Amino acid sequence: MDRREFIGASLTAAAAAGLSACGVKTTGKPKATGAKMKLSFYPYELQLAHTFTVSSYSRKTTPDVQVEIEYEGLTGYGEASMPPYLGHTVESVCDFLSKVDLSGFDSPFLQEDIMEYLDTLSEGDAPAKAAVDIALHDLCGKLSGQPLYRLWGYNPAKAGPTTFTIGIDTPEVVREKTLECAGKFKILKVKVGLDSDEMMIRTIRSVTDVPLAVDANQGWKDKQKALDEIFWLKEQGIVLVEQPMPKERLDDVAWITERSPLPIIADEAIQRLKDIPRIKGAYSGINIKLMKSTGLLEARKMIAYARAEGMKVMVGCMTETSCACTAAAQLAPAADFCDIDGNLLITNDLFEGMKVVNGDMILPDRPGLGLKKL
Ligand code: MG
Repeated sequence: MDRREFIGASLTAAAAAGLSACGVKTTGKPKATGAKMKLSFYPYELQLAHTFTVSSYSRKTTPDVQVEIEYEGLTGYGEASMPPYLGHTVESVCDFLSKVDLSGFDSPFLQEDIMEYLDTLSEGDAPAKAAVDIALHDLCGKLSGQPLYRLWGYNPAKAGPTTFTIGIDTPEVVREKTLECAGKFKILKVKVGLDSDEMMIRTIRSVTDVPLAVDANQGWKDKQKALDEIFWLKEQGIVLVEQPMPKERLDDVAWITERSPLPIIADEAIQRLKDIPRIKGAYSGINIKLMKSTGLLEARKMIAYARAEGMKVMVGCMTETSCACTAAAQLAPAADFCDIDGNLLITNDLFEGMKVVNGDMILPDRPGLGLKKL
């Protein structure tokens, strides 16, 4: 390379890094010059196969909004799922998405800029932001001709098992549901946190010996009782405990985590990257869900931060179609535990994507999320 070629190459590299020729960082939205992205969305109500009960509510449907971003003849798919406890609605998601103007961005690869822009539109609206993020990632994978996990350097053979969730119910129903799924999954997740915990565990144990995760969904109120129960759960083959107490009671959770023989994972207590410094030390790990994290871009930063703090990483989901679940499953090779069964809980999926075979997640070997529309 001669001197002229060297200067040319340096300018190109500086431009790619967002630097001007004199090394001063340029700011503001990039100017649109080429193809435009076209965002569209529509509400879609998810039908649950069974009424789903956790410690605070029951439901038979989940509101959802499907998102598509078209660019250069390709379509990226995204999704916002809104379980009631997070306070989002079809209306709030559609309101947010109708404010999103992608015309100032040249390409879906400008994910950092676009997500930064979405955060300027509102502080919350995580599911709506996640829907845009997922569609952008799908597009970028398609434009690159590669599945996302490959672009990130993850080994799909390490996706591993997902839990399948059993909600709180009568012993007869719990037994029937466990019989239905016990042979298909290597690990089950059991909802606890009401007065029926012992019944739930004993009923499941009368059917199967597979490892269990439990999720109290903030349902335990007394720290000593919670700790006693965790010791009993360990004897029953439970491998982790999710959100044992109300998210506000950080000191009590820290007290439990310090003494617990099982990892204690934060779910309701953590939404985004900025929440990790506040809860680190009080929990052993975090449950990352795309609908809380605003999508994959921030989820990957959360994984890096949690690892740097020596925390365990769980990747979860809401009740979702295979769109958002397959997006979450792209992160599975980087996680310790996965709870990505939302698509298996609904009867009206829109896509074929990640599959569970012999209890393990199989990621599609197709570009982007690798979805096929049903
Ligand atoms: Mg949970």
